[in-house]
Amino acid sequence: MVDVSDIFVCTRCGFCCHGETTVSLDADDRERMVAFLSMDEEKVKRKFWRVTGNCVQMKTVDGHCIFYDEGCTVHQGRPWRCGQWPLHPSILDDEANFMAISESCPGIKKEKGYDIFCEIFRKLIENGFVQC
Ligand code: SF4
Ligand code: SF4
Repeated sequence: MVDVSDIFVCTRCGFCCHGETTVSLDADDRERMVAFLSMDEEKVKRKFWRVTGNCVQMKTVDGHCIFYDEGCTVHQGRPWRCGQWPLHPSILDDEANFMAISESCPGIKKEKGYDIFCEIFRKLIENGFVQC
């Protein structure tokens, strides 16, 4: 039986929560975040979201996501893309994606090697693995 920890264990380095932009939030993400925060949507929007046309992202503060504080403070209400990271299916398409993602995420067990990593990742997907 494979386990996600066979290929990834988050070190909580925070790299993926840093930058001047964040992932975008779809309608389900927005609904989940609003419910988690127990605030009305307008207030969440004003306080936490950056809205550009149809694109809703989280605001950033001091070069990181507004929810980052030595870890994710909105964990159960985080966007699905945050939950999926770093086990992005594009890893299975191209070793270059595996290399690029493992460069930016120290939690990836790249010492397994690409082929074994993919074998385990495929089994996790077959077993219904959905991280978010
Ligand atoms: S970059 Fe990887 S190890 Fe670091 S916090 Fe993000 S998921 Fe965890
Ligand atoms: S929602 Fe959480 S996991 Fe996603 S970028 Fe912000 S702090 Fe990081």
